[in-house]
Amino acid sequence: MKCRGWLSAIWDERPPRKSCLPLPQAELGAEGWSEGPLSNHGHGWLAMRGQVKDIAVVGAGMVGAALALALAKKGFDVALIETRAPAPWRAQDEVDLRVVALAASSIALFEHLGVWTAIRDARACRYRRMRVWDALAPGDLGFDAADAGANALGYILENRLIAHALWQAAQAHAQIALHCPARVAATEIEGNWRMLTFDDGSRIAARLVVAADGAESALRGMLGIATRDRDYAQRAVVAHVAHEHAHEFTAWQRFLPGATLAFLPLADGRSSIVWSLPEAEAARVLALADAEFCAELGAAFDFRLGRITATTPRAAFPLRMKLAERYIAPRFALIGDAAHVVHPLAGQGVNLGLRDALALVETLTAARSAKRDFAAETTLRRFERRRRSDNDLSAHAFDAIQRVFGSEAAPLAAVRGAGLRIVDRVTPLKQLFARHAAG
Ligand SMILES: Cc1cc2nc3c(=O)[nH]c(=O)nc-3n(C[C@H](O)[C@H](O)[C@H](O)COP(=O)(O)OP(=O)(O)OC[C@H]3O[C@@H](n4cnc5c(N)ncnc54)[C@H](O)[C@@H]3O)c2cc1C
Repeated sequence: MKCRGWLSAIWDERPPRKSCLPLPQAELGAEGWSEGPLSNHGHGWLAMRGQVKDIAVVGAGMVGAALALALAKKGFDVALIETRAPAPWRAQDEVDLRVVALAASSIALFEHLGVWTAIRDARACRYRRMRVWDALAPGDLGFDAADAGANALGYILENRLIAHALWQAAQAHAQIALHCPARVAATEIEGNWRMLTFDDGSRIAARLVVAADGAESALRGMLGIATRDRDYAQRAVVAHVAHEHAHEFTAWQRFLPGATLAFLPLADGRSSIVWSLPEAEAARVLALADAEFCAELGAAFDFRLGRITATTPRAAFPLRMKLAERYIAPRFALIGDAAHVVHPLAGQGVNLGLRDALALVETLTAARSAKRDFAAETTLRRFERRRRSDNDLSAHAFDAIQRVFGSEAAPLAAVRGAGLRIVDRVTPLKQLFARHAAG
């Protein structure tokens, strides 16, 4: 199949493609979606040979890199733009301080992208159970993979390992052009294309640009997309710790007055902790000597794993909720933390972002199969409808849990204990929670 007009000069030089689309019809919408016919606008298009892509993904974090690979697998021609390549992962290095609990749906996506075996064989820890309890009430909640009819609730994985594996796969993929180091300085619509101009003045054109450039998304700002923010005035203190008793391949979470503390199992028998604390308290805990830190941590964890015997250096991350007011603009979509930042108490940020990536690929592919413009407003709205309500609902649910369990007020403490006990006793409810935890 051939494309019409000036583009044929470019397309004809590229490998045979399954996805050479008919030129999209101009669309009229209320938010400036009107798009004129293709023209070269006097910008020297032919000089951009090789710089014309179906889709440009900005940001090669876990979400952006996974999206680029999934799109390339479907035959889209992709540019992946990143300011800095991820640090390499090496087995002899200390376990990355940033780890994530990934649900079964995220693991399935990595399997589909062909990166899962390498990640699992490098360093991964499966967890089969979750235990949640509260310092202010007697309730205790337990989820078992068996409640969800599964072998595992998920895996604890290092951020650096995932980013590295996805980056290597993207580097090796013929349908992905990496632009790194590269920083987008401006973006605008020209005809049916979204143009990206880099810091060095070079440009690329894409039918669709997807921003996966994280919580402080520069692209989101350039498109004038506002966010609703809530600063929790908390920091998450992270470290890897050794303890007296085995972690039993269990993810543990304890609610404390104004704080939450999670222990996530690591493959080497230690646990990775995420201790969300009010800012001043976080600063104090960060400044403790190792022995004092271990003693305080053990007590805060109710000594469930016995004494804490060693710790790595600690790091801390500010916590907030940040929700984009819209996910789309003409020939533009937001995914991952660029669209939604949630409290980490439920360990869902990447899982939600990867679900965005999957939904976007499915929506674009369906439009292309129906011979429609895959970046048309109607298509992008379908993606937004699929993901925004799920993400907003999840963010507000985590926010509500944070408010109820973050409170020291006695009436709320009674409600929270009762809530945990009820969920633990009612099997269908437990199964529902377990299935949600397993993705
Ligand atoms: C303490 C803590 C614990 C967490 N635990 C979990 C957990 O257990 N499970 C879970 O699912 N989630 C967890 N999360 C959330 C998770 O870490 C984030 O949701 C996730 O990292 C977001 O991935 P992303 O790819 O969307 O964004 P990022 O990881 O922020 O990646 C954005 C990428 O874009 C690049 N970039 C930025 N600006 C530009 C630009 N202008 N041009 C080009 N590239 C650019 C950056 O270099 C980066 O590579 C946790 C978060 C915290 C703080």
